[in-house]
Amino acid sequence: MSVETARGVLGDATIGELEAAVRGSVVRPGDAAYEEARAVWNAAHDKRPALVVRCAGVADVIRAVEFARSQDLLVAVRGGAHSIAGFSTCDGGIVIDLSGMKGVRVDPGRRRVIAEAGLTWGELDHETQAFGLAVTGGLVSSTGVSGFTLGGGVGWLLRRHGLACDNLVGADLVTADGRLVHADAEEHPELFWALRGGGGNFGVVTSLEFELHPVGPQVLAGLVIYPAAEAAQVVRRWRDLCPDLPDELTTLVNLTTAPPLPFLPEAVHGTRIVVLAAMYAGPAEAGEEAVRPLRSLGTPIADVLGPMPYLGMQTLLDPLWTRGAHNYFTSAFVEPSDAALDAVTAAHLTTPTPQSEIHLHQLGGAFARVPAGATAFSQRDAGVLCNVIARSPEADGFDGHADWARATREAIARHGNGSMYVNFTGDGERDKALASYPQEVRDRLVRVKDAYDPTNLFRLNQNIRPSAAG
Ligand code: FAD
Repeated sequence: MSVETARGVLGDATIGELEAAVRGSVVRPGDAAYEEARAVWNAAHDKRPALVVRCAGVADVIRAVEFARSQDLLVAVRGGAHSIAGFSTCDGGIVIDLSGMKGVRVDPGRRRVIAEAGLTWGELDHETQAFGLAVTGGLVSSTGVSGFTLGGGVGWLLRRHGLACDNLVGADLVTADGRLVHADAEEHPELFWALRGGGGNFGVVTSLEFELHPVGPQVLAGLVIYPAAEAAQVVRRWRDLCPDLPDELTTLVNLTTAPPLPFLPEAVHGTRIVVLAAMYAGPAEAGEEAVRPLRSLGTPIADVLGPMPYLGMQTLLDPLWTRGAHNYFTSAFVEPSDAALDAVTAAHLTTPTPQSEIHLHQLGGAFARVPAGATAFSQRDAGVLCNVIARSPEADGFDGHADWARATREAIARHGNGSMYVNFTGDGERDKALASYPQEVRDRLVRVKDAYDPTNLFRLNQNIRPSAAG
């Protein structure tokens, strides 16, 4: 059966040639697998690609890239399918789906792991923790390793070991002209620099090699929950504490609405709360001392901060972040002045749904010690990363909820330099990509784009336009 694309019709024979050339599968509209193959985590993006190529390996990726180029197809690249902006799907184009590529090899002696691009953090953590090792991964275990790392990668090990991308030591990538290149500090060093924060602009990454660190298996981690009535005091005290907290400790304040969790009194369910989440990646005894002040930022409703497996903390939030809901994220790096924190706590009182929330990520530590210019990820001096989230199980009214997030972000971003984090950016407009990088970094990214993707084949991302595109 032929298939309609945004550029015309692809004949059955042409698609048959692609099918014959790949070891994985090619899914098209009408196939039994199509509905599942086109779905992404964020239901706000309901798109109908012409083809989904489920790649089994690097050869399939090369074939898919060559096919897309020869047929002039719009290309979406998919790792874990968690793009908030919906970049890993498209209407009438081709999805290069890497989610079946889950090869992984841990070298415990050298403390390294080579991970294929389809792995999720849950899968990678499972493999590395078998050896008591880990690298900074996502707060929700279903998130893909590749999209997360290419944008930066903020997680519980951020202050101890930096971003995920700070631990990347090399990557294999299929370029727009179908070549497989290896990028690391020696080979294609500019590409390697760009891959650490520059997103999916430069080609299809097929595997990533990370440095690993001893972590766990037990860590001191969990949540302390305060009432929203104390929000102003809790966030100020947290802000004041942050400079004195050790690097082993990474914290996050989440201003949200209480879900019906068993450790929360029933009377609190459905009311606004402030959640202090933390993980100490070091010896438990020292950790207890370090987390003590977090237990008395106000009058806790619940305190479930204690020893737990690292894998437990890495999956703790999963039940609240199931796929199929409508989501919009937008972010700002800010200095946590009283005025900024007032804007945050005021917005908390206007969240449009119980699932909508505002996160304040503590930065600093190893994250801040990466020298300026070492990676494309640039915001090393920022005090706090604020993520404003609109989330709803319903499509109805969602545009209004996203508008709430945009307006909230504007009110908070005033207190910073206006920059954003690509991985928490739910919009695809050009100004959003530009807001993620200072001018000199943008210029350098354009030079790398010119070298590896001069025709902008890979443009469904926070796009760095090549010079030829103006
Ligand atoms: P995909 O949708 O598959 O990919 C996103 C984009 O990345 C693609 O469109 C493409 O441009 C690019 N890409 C992906 N794989 C490749 C590849 N192999 N080669 C080239 N380009 C590629 N971010 C954080 O920093 N910390 C968090 O704790 C965190 N938690 C999250 C929790 C949830 C529930 C969600 C939805 C997102 C979270 N994020 C977090 C944001 C997340 O990092 C981004 O959404 C990221 O892009 C997801 O990567 P993915 O591979 O799952 O997504």
